[in-house]
Amino acid sequence: MVLRFCLFLFTCTTVAFPASAEQYLVKSQAEYFAAEKKLRAGDKIILANGIWRDFEIKFSGQGTKSKPITLMAQDVGRVIISGQSNLRIGGKHMLVAGLVFKNGYSPTGEVISFRRSKQDLASFSRVTEVVIDHFNKPDRFESDYWVGMYGRHNRFDHNHLVGKSNKGVTFAVRLDSQESQDNRHRIDHNYFGPRPVLGSNGGETLRIGTSKYSMFNSNTVVENNYFDRCDGEVEIISSKSGGNIYRGNVFYESSGTLTLRHGDGNLVENNIFFGNAKDHTGGIRVINQDQTIRNNYMEGLRGTGFSSALTVMNGVPNSPVNRYVQVNRAIIENNSVVDSARITFNAGADKERSAPPTNSRFAQNLLSGSGDGTFIKIQDDVSGISFVDNIITAGTVEKPVAGIPKQKLVLKRAENGLLYPVGSAIGASRDLRPVTREQVGVSWYPKSPSGDRFGIGQSIAVDPGEDSLTDAFAAAKEGDRLVLSAGEYVVNKILPLDKAVSIEGPAEETAKITFARPSFLEIQEGGSLRLVNIAIDGVLAPDSVGNAVIRTTSFPMQSNFLIHLDGVSVINLDVNKSFHVIALGKSSFADRISIKNSNFSNISGSVLQAAAETEDYGQYNAEYIDVSNSNFKDIGGAAFNIYRGGRDESTFGPHFSLTGSNFWNVGKGGNNANGASMVLHGVQHSDISDNNFLDNAPIKIVHTVGRPQTRISGNKSSKTPAPILEELNYQGAHRAILSANQFEGAAKP
Ligand code: CA
Repeated sequence: MVLRFCLFLFTCTTVAFPASAEQYLVKSQAEYFAAEKKLRAGDKIILANGIWRDFEIKFSGQGTKSKPITLMAQDVGRVIISGQSNLRIGGKHMLVAGLVFKNGYSPTGEVISFRRSKQDLASFSRVTEVVIDHFNKPDRFESDYWVGMYGRHNRFDHNHLVGKSNKGVTFAVRLDSQESQDNRHRIDHNYFGPRPVLGSNGGETLRIGTSKYSMFNSNTVVENNYFDRCDGEVEIISSKSGGNIYRGNVFYESSGTLTLRHGDGNLVENNIFFGNAKDHTGGIRVINQDQTIRNNYMEGLRGTGFSSALTVMNGVPNSPVNRYVQVNRAIIENNSVVDSARITFNAGADKERSAPPTNSRFAQNLLSGSGDGTFIKIQDDVSGISFVDNIITAGTVEKPVAGIPKQKLVLKRAENGLLYPVGSAIGASRDLRPVTREQVGVSWYPKSPSGDRFGIGQSIAVDPGEDSLTDAFAAAKEGDRLVLSAGEYVVNKILPLDKAVSIEGPAEETAKITFARPSFLEIQEGGSLRLVNIAIDGVLAPDSVGNAVIRTTSFPMQSNFLIHLDGVSVINLDVNKSFHVIALGKSSFADRISIKNSNFSNISGSVLQAAAETEDYGQYNAEYIDVSNSNFKDIGGAAFNIYRGGRDESTFGPHFSLTGSNFWNVGKGGNNANGASMVLHGVQHSDISDNNFLDNAPIKIVHTVGRPQTRISGNKSSKTPAPILEELNYQGAHRAILSANQFEGAAKP
C-alpha cells in the first residue's frame, strides 16, 4: 500500500494532469476554505503536514471520472486532524486520502460524512487510506457514527478504523432518502480494528440500512475487510436492507455475528470466521427472505443461541418491519463449520416468533462440533428446510434429521490455513484465501497488538514508608510493576491511575497499604490495575460519603479497564456505613474484574459495586466478574451488587462467576437495602458453584430479558436462606438451574 500511495503522490506532483488543474498546498484553515471554494475537476488540495485542530472540513465539488477532485495529505500519516473535527463530502468524483483523525472527536453526529448537507450528497466519491483512531466523544453514551455513507456509487477502501468506544455504529450506510437507495457502494479492504464491548445496544461495527428503510435495496458490496476483535455488541454487522453482498471478509476473534436483521436477497459468501475459542464468537444469523449463505468457513466459534456459527431464526407471522420476517427461500450451502459450539435452527421460537423457515435448502455443509455434546439445536419445526448431503463429523443433532448423517471424517489443515476433510469435497471450497491483516487498511499506521498490557514495562522496587508508593506511582509508566517489600506504606493522596500499573507485594511476608483519603486509588481514562499480594487496611480513611478503596473517576470514561486482585486482603473499611472495596461509577465500564486468592473482612459496604447504570437502558458497568478461592467475612452490604436493567437484548454480559469461596456474615448490615449477600440483576451468565455460606443474607438473582443462564450448584450453607429468584419478563418458573446445593429450605420460585 505504501507503493500504491507513493505512485499516487507521484502522479499528482507531475504534469500528468492537464494544465488547467490546480494544486493547492494549504497551511491553514483559511487557506483551505479559500481553495475549496474554487475547486474544479482535476484540482487537488494538499493539507500541509502537521496537526490541524478543530477543523470541520467541508469538501464538495464536481469532479469527473477521469479528473476527480482530491483532498490529500502532504505525506501520508503526517497530517493529523485532532480536536473537534470532522469531514463532510459532497458533490461528485471526490477523492480523500491519507488523513489521520486522532486525539479528538466530531462535534456533529459523524466523523466522516458522505454528504455535505442534506441536499448535497456525495456520489462516485472515494475515501481511501484514512485512519480514525479512538476519535470518541467524551461521554460513552453520546451517540455518533465514525462514517456515515450517503448518496450512490461511493467507495470506502483501505482505511483503518480502531477503538470506537462510544455509542453508535462505527460505520453506517444510510438509505434515508431516495438518492441513497440502490446505492452500489463498495466497502473493501478496510481494517476494522478492535471495538471494545460497549455494554449497551449501539456497538455494531457496520450497519447497512435501518428497519424503516429495510424494504429498499441497498446493493452495497462489503468485501475483503478484516474485522479484528469487533466486540461492541451482539451484531458485528447489522444488515438492514436488501441486495447486499458480504464477500471474502475475515472476522477474527469477534464476539457477535453478521446478522441479516432486515431486508431480503442478501448474499453472504466466502467469508472466514476465526473464533479461537473466545466467548460469544459467532457466524451468520439468518432472518427474512431469499438470503444466500454459501462457501463460508467458520472455525473455533463459541457462540450459542442467536450467536451460533449459523443461526436460522423463526419469524413472526405477518411481521411488522421492525420484528422478525419469516425465513423463506434461504439457501445455505457448502459452508464449513468446524470446532464450533453451536448451530441453531428455529432460534427464538416462542409465541410471537412462531413461523418456522419455509422453502429453504441446507446442503453440502461440513458440520463439526467442538465436543461430543449437542452441536445442532432444533427449536421448532424444520420441515420447511430440505437437508441434502450434509455431514456432521463431531457433536450431535438435538433431533434426528434426515440429510445430516453422522460420518467420521479426518480434517487436515491445508496451505490456506483452513481445515478440509480428507477424501471429501464437502463444505467450503479449497480455493478460499482469507484476506490478511497486511492486505487491509494502511501500511503506514500500526495495527492493534494483542496481548497483556500489564508487565510490558519496568519492575520498580518501592521501599516502605510514608508517600514512597505515591512517588513511585507518579513516576510509573504504562505496563510498569511497582514491587513492594514487606512493611507499611502510607498513601496521603488518591492515586490517579491513567495507565496499566501492577502493584505487587511479597508472597510470604506482608506489604500493607493504608490511605488517608476517601480512596486509595482512582481509575481514570486509560487506567487498569493489577494488585498482587497486597494488604490494604482502611483504618486511616476519613469518614466521608462514598468511600471506596478503588473508585472510578466522576468524569465519563471512554476506555474500558481491568481490575485484577490476586492474593489481596482488605480489612477495616468501617469508618462509615457503606465503605466499598471497588465502586464503579456511571459511564465507566470494566472489561473484567477478577478476584482470586483474596480475603475481605470487616467491611461496611460491598466488595464490588457495579450498579451505577440505573436508567434501565440495558447499560451496565462490567462485562466479566470472576471471583474464586476467596474469603468474605463480616461484610455489611451485598458482597457483589451488579445491575443491568431494561429490556434491551444487544449485549452478551454481564457475566458473573463465583467459585471455591467462603462467606461468613455477609449482607446483614443495617444499611443494606437489598437485604441480600449478593445481588445479580439482569446478569446474563451466572455461575455460582462450590462455595460455602455460613450465616449470610440470601443470594438474590433477578432475570430480565433474553436467555439468562444461571447455574447454582454444589454450594453448602448453614443459617443462610435459599436464593431469592425472580423473573421480570418471563412467564413461568425461574429458569436458574440449581443442583446439589444445601440451602436452608427449598429455593423460592
Ligand atoms: Ca444492535
